[in-house]
Amino acid sequence: MWRENIDILIDHQCPQCGAPAELAETDRLVRCSYCKVNSYLVPSRYFRYRLPDKAPSGERLVYFPYWRFKGMIFSCLETGIQHRFLDASLQAAPSPFFPVSVGLRSQAMKLRFVSPETKGWFIKPTTPLEKVMEVFLERVTLDLPGTVYHQSHIGESLSLIYAPFYIGKTVMDAVLNQPVSQKLDEPFDLNQFRGGSVDWKIGFLPTLCPNCGWDMEGSRDALALHCKNCESVWQASKEGMTRLNVAHLPDRLDEETVYLPFWRIRADVSGLDLASYADLIKVANLPRVAQPGWDNIPFRFWGPAFKVRPRSFLRLMQQMTLSQPRDKLVAQVPKGAVMHPVNLPVSESVETLKLNLAGFMRPKNKVPDTIPDIRIRARSYLLVYIPFAVRHHDLVQPQFKIAVNRNQLALAGNL
Ligand SMILES: [Zn+2]
Ligand SMILES: [Zn+2]
Repeated sequence: MWRENIDILIDHQCPQCGAPAELAETDRLVRCSYCKVNSYLVPSRYFRYRLPDKAPSGERLVYFPYWRFKGMIFSCLETGIQHRFLDASLQAAPSPFFPVSVGLRSQAMKLRFVSPETKGWFIKPTTPLEKVMEVFLERVTLDLPGTVYHQSHIGESLSLIYAPFYIGKTVMDAVLNQPVSQKLDEPFDLNQFRGGSVDWKIGFLPTLCPNCGWDMEGSRDALALHCKNCESVWQASKEGMTRLNVAHLPDRLDEETVYLPFWRIRADVSGLDLASYADLIKVANLPRVAQPGWDNIPFRFWGPAFKVRPRSFLRLMQQMTLSQPRDKLVAQVPKGAVMHPVNLPVSESVETLKLNLAGFMRPKNKVPDTIPDIRIRARSYLLVYIPFAVRHHDLVQPQFKIAVNRNQLALAGNL
């Protein structure tokens, strides 16, 4: 059992007043319902959770690590690009004594953040996440017809989950209070694993604008916080809140609009000439005649900075990239406008650059042989807000002839 599809809920305490709160896995901006103070969970590369135990008191707990990935896998086949939702976990330290995955303990698992106060022996992860990701991708590939020439994954969440056990005559699952193995032939030697107590702790940042001190705003899952006082946009990093370079395309639509955020990424592409707009016309075989000067317009990859259903994600990414918006951008957020939250990090967008290229390269029959040898390295990025007209069922961008179904956005919270 390696496919799980679990909704994780996190039992959490307000860092200001200690009041209890329940968080969803994608929550970043947390407003305490008691003290009303906002705090921002610092998204390190991954969060570390533990399952709460029901072990008899006095048992010494051993926490075993699992890597967990929840997100979308895109696989490029000769017949086209296939996508699959994946929610899976796998041992982060190989051992025959513990279950292969976290497993289906319940549909909604209640987790806690790991903290230095948690008593127990935490086995150290020894299998790198990349290795586990390879296993996940291989399993997806097995189910697909034909040869996969490129794969990329967009993680909605990536985490390390520690499951508690205790050792008696067998290894006991401390969540279910059930044995997980046969009676042990010889005494269980914990020293075969590296481990010990943990010193990891979830980090919090205040949500006050570092520029002017105003309380910033954002949705619960916002990866970019907006200061409405000085109109700056910030993202959390190890160094604290760092300012994001933002821009918007001026709204020339004479109707109700919402601004959708996109990552515009400048990248070095090796093994293919794709440095300018003129190059793009050749690579994608666009029905346009390159005008003088187009070889001086730098080519950029575009991709949604928000979660959206996979089919729409692919389409938006491609349509924006092929459109290469060249109108003059305004180097700030659209003041007073409705802006859709940024909830897909630029790091995930960078993961899809080759997928993006594979989708628009022509002729199609050359793509499977060409793509594997191409290297793409992201150089810089900009967050760009693009105005979309709000219609009955769709959001429409008339200039670039792009439409996205409103339901595709609304439902994407759960991917
Ligand atoms: Zn509080
Ligand atoms: Zn400010």
